[in-house]
Amino acid sequence: MSRPVTLVTGGSRGIGAAICERLAADGHDLAIGYRRDAEAAEEVARQARAAGATALAIQLDTAEEAQVERFFDLAAERLGPATGLVNNAGVTSARGPLADLRTEDLRKVVDVNLVGYFLCARRAARDFGRGAVIVNISSGAATLGSPGEYIHYAATKAATDTLTIGLAKELGPAGIRVNAVSPGTIETEIHELSGEPGRPARVAPMVPLRRAGRPEEIAGAVAWLLSPDASYTSGAILRVAGGM
Ligand code: NAP
Repeated sequence: MSRPVTLVTGGSRGIGAAICERLAADGHDLAIGYRRDAEAAEEVARQARAAGATALAIQLDTAEEAQVERFFDLAAERLGPATGLVNNAGVTSARGPLADLRTEDLRKVVDVNLVGYFLCARRAARDFGRGAVIVNISSGAATLGSPGEYIHYAATKAATDTLTIGLAKELGPAGIRVNAVSPGTIETEIHELSGEPGRPARVAPMVPLRRAGRPEEIAGAVAWLLSPDASYTSGAILRVAGGM
């Protein structure tokens, strides 16, 4: 059987890097998108190769249509037809009430988290064939709303859930599955972007499992959704949030 070929956006660190590590161990070949840190992405690719994968690090700003097209073109050229997409690249902005939200931050978060996911999903919808899978990384914020922190971010994740439900119905007849994973608070650098690097420790006591999650705990869920074990799972929004 041929190896799955999976494209992961935002694979240079955090949840994306953990997904790449897990998928390489599970036998996927990988196109690893990164925006800024070529060295970090190359290190993720090196580790994937050490696990036996063919892995490419490719510069990609998901909010830029031409770069999304180039990412898919290069991956197809070098790895063959893609069988999976993990829409993971996401950002937030300074935490605070909506009244203080800067318009440029609102636009940035919508551009990356929403437009970027749609541009990648659209190209996958055009290219992918029977048996292919799309996994969108959403967030528990989609249903919690993130009051006082980042409602705009939460809203883009609710839209991700809608994208997942709609696209699963649209592509199901073609044999393509579409699912989402909704992480709770996970220990990554994203919390620095919101101005609170210690957020995982702060919220831990409110989480039923009494701790924040680790990136590899999200990667396990993504790997399952991409695997044949999830062959009848589509349109699912799998919450991996310690009970939140
Ligand atoms: P992270 O550590 O900040 O990593 C984000 C990744 O996305 C980085 O590789 C970053 O690359 C990349 N990225 C950012 N903007 C991009 C763009 N315009 N184009 C391409 N790549 C871009 O974040 P994370 O915590 O791993 O988050 C990954 C996903 O999980 C996001 O969708 C996030 O919303 C979601 N999530 C995270 C948590 C959490 O608590 N950590 C909870 C729920 C959901 P650069 O370093 O080059 O910018």
